Amino acid sequence: MVPVIALVGRPNVGKSTLFNRLTKSRDAIVADYSGLTRDRKYGEAKWQGRTYIVIDTGGISGDEEGIDAKMAEQSLQAIEEADAVLFMVDSRAGMTAADQMIAEHLRKKNKRTFLVANKVDTVDPEIARAEFSPLAIGDAFPVAAAHGRGVNALLQAALGAFPKDEGEEDELAEAGEGEEGAAPAEPKQRIPGPDEKSGIKIAIIGRPNVGKSTLVNRMLGEERVIVYDQAGTTRDSIYIPFERDEVKYTLIDTAGVRRRGKIFEAVEKFSVVKTLQAIQDANVVVFVMDAREGVVDHDLNLLGFVLETGRALVIALNKWDGMDSHERERVKTELERRLQFVDFADIHFISALHGTGVGHLYKSVQESFRSAVTRWPTSFLTQVLEDAVSTHQPPLVNGRRIKLRYAHLGGANPPLIVIHGNQVDAVPRAYSRYLENTYRRVLKLVGTPIRIEFKGGD
Ligand code: GDP
Ligand code: GDP
Repeated sequence: MVPVIALVGRPNVGKSTLFNRLTKSRDAIVADYSGLTRDRKYGEAKWQGRTYIVIDTGGISGDEEGIDAKMAEQSLQAIEEADAVLFMVDSRAGMTAADQMIAEHLRKKNKRTFLVANKVDTVDPEIARAEFSPLAIGDAFPVAAAHGRGVNALLQAALGAFPKDEGEEDELAEAGEGEEGAAPAEPKQRIPGPDEKSGIKIAIIGRPNVGKSTLVNRMLGEERVIVYDQAGTTRDSIYIPFERDEVKYTLIDTAGVRRRGKIFEAVEKFSVVKTLQAIQDANVVVFVMDAREGVVDHDLNLLGFVLETGRALVIALNKWDGMDSHERERVKTELERRLQFVDFADIHFISALHGTGVGHLYKSVQESFRSAVTRWPTSFLTQVLEDAVSTHQPPLVNGRRIKLRYAHLGGANPPLIVIHGNQVDAVPRAYSRYLENTYRRVLKLVGTPIRIEFKGGD
């Protein structure tokens, strides 16, 4: 399970600034988040070979009402479930009553907490340390999130003890530096294949009450499904291995399988942390939405996170039963408009309650899984690149043409295509989009994002 770090603090201390710095480590990779209407709150980040999840819990003031109260509740729960909390304060503003209130709350928790004194570009770090020592959260880490100062030392403390990602030790092979023109022999790759034991790992994800448990019960209750004994549980999500039409799957159930006996129903609680970890751990995410509510901001936030992790994606619009044709049209129009940023995903209109459309999900799950994990040989990916380049040449930069020589697969789930050439820093965004679309079309990718990375060689 990937570690989870929660950012906590009153408004304006610099949480989003730190969040952006931690999660924006991938500028060379093509990903388009336009369509997300709100600031993202959950991000995937990487530090020294360790993938982790960052949650910006939003400002907590203690007197929230209505929707804000719900958000604050989720923030408090995220603190509860995170592996470490970064409690941010503003060195320029000095200590405030709200800081003390949050500190008091955190001291009661038995949680690894790091006090982060931000904006030390404006005051002496030693003075900042002294200023906040009454919070009794330990020695403050002086940082300037806006400039990156002190961030590494902070991450070393917060993440250093976690193991590196699988396969991180053996660096991806740097293939064929300096070999003019020729593609190298198959480079060594760290590409996870389908896991023999668990088969295709499917996470059923969505907000509370969209119908996740109903869908899980429906999928497992199908006649053609053979459910095996549970292989053990990790944190709170339940992993359920099963087989259908001779294909192995493991269902990651974030809602918890509930008996009809109702006893457990009331205690079930939606958990952001559980949800994010299930997404990270899955091959394919089945994202459930409630057709009657349409697309809400929280759906977009969660989908933004799915996109960031690069997991394969199938969208299930649930509760399609009992809607009239007028309502259905309205929902479809809204989907087209607001889900453009995940337009690679299949959308199914289902009724988990009645079972309508549920069986069709499997075809999309299989296809998106195949798209996500196929190993395409270097020769083929290079051929596609050559064809694309001869159809549309990359532009000239300072009188020299950008040269793209060969491509190889650098990762799977999502597929990462690494393109080698020179002057690659100057490849315009439109051109990398063109290459992305070409690969998407030629490789017949469905249900998975794709990433393109350029590597220079001159
Ligand atoms: P949030 O409300 O806690 O998410 O805070 P923001 O990240 O939005 O930051 C609030 C303000 O503080 C913005 O104007 C930032 O530019 C500024 N800020 C954030 N980090 C730093 C820093 O390290 N130094 C300085 N001088 N300003 C910062
Ligand atoms: P979860 O919180 O996402 O696991 O949602 P549940 O599976 O507990 O469902 C929430 C409510 O929606 C329950 O009352 C379900 O009976 C109802 N529900 C779930 N799926 C459907 C559906 O396809 N159609 C209708 N009409 N109701 C549904």
